[in-house]
Amino acid sequence: MPSKTPSSSDSSRTSGSKTSKAWDKGGYGNKSAIVKTWGIYGPQNAGITQSGGRKSEPFKLSRTKIDMFLECPLCFYLDRKLGIARPSMPSFTLNVAVDHLLKKEFDTHRAAGKPHPMMKAYGLDMVPFSHPNMDQWRENFVGVQYLHPETNFLVFGAVDDIWQEPGEGDKPGRLAIVDYKATSKDGEIELEDTRWHNQYRRQMEIYQWLVRHNGFEVSDTGYFVYVNGKKDRAAFDGKLEFDVKIIPYTGKSDWIDDVLVRAKKCLDSDAVPAQSPACEHCEYRLEARKAYERHIKAAKGSA
Ligand code: SF4
Repeated sequence: MPSKTPSSSDSSRTSGSKTSKAWDKGGYGNKSAIVKTWGIYGPQNAGITQSGGRKSEPFKLSRTKIDMFLECPLCFYLDRKLGIARPSMPSFTLNVAVDHLLKKEFDTHRAAGKPHPMMKAYGLDMVPFSHPNMDQWRENFVGVQYLHPETNFLVFGAVDDIWQEPGEGDKPGRLAIVDYKATSKDGEIELEDTRWHNQYRRQMEIYQWLVRHNGFEVSDTGYFVYVNGKKDRAAFDGKLEFDVKIIPYTGKSDWIDDVLVRAKKCLDSDAVPAQSPACEHCEYRLEARKAYERHIKAAKGSA
């Protein structure tokens, strides 16, 4: 699908017209969940802190929004500047349950200051990291935070876990970022060159960058604790069994500063970015709107 920038004659910009009000009344979901009035980028965030100049307010930016910018600057612009969110998705409640149980399991070993048996099985000389901020770092919408000076973005992301290597003398051991993942697929789980797995890699790299900027020494190697629901059982029997695998990943965080600066430029600009050529939803939205307007016009003409 060719990349297109919506033009000024784009029918999607007829907000406030009779047609768009009729469109709004058409029952296309929950408008209040899509149109946001808070947490969006505005004049108070534009520019950056300069001595003698106006001090801009930090703008909170999650790692998922950074990823959104990389996937489609238009979606990012609509969401963060114009306040139009992507339609929500149902929550992956089974994944959330797996995350919760893994956290509980690793927390018992954290409290004991002992390695999880899985760490030993994989030859990892580490323990779950114990720190007073651990709960805050794992909390959604709070997470690990860093105020990026070049953009005044308050970047944040909630980690699943952090492990720690043994220290030497007074020197504490390096940290390793850990992310829990759940799936159900045939065969061995590996990190592949897919959209989702590339997103996982970037997620790991942003967490490494965030924790480093909080003053910790962080290993380039992070770990995915990947659980795979088994489908080859004779019967369900009211329980789902999983294989668990630890997949190391060597991250590189050198792209993040540049992406943040580009994201800031995108938000500061009045130019609407092009839509992603890899996504067909905008095309659907525009074509659906055009078809709707054609239909209304034809219906009025025949009345
Ligand atoms: S192309 Fe897709 S990702 Fe981009 S703005 Fe449209 S719907 Fe969002």
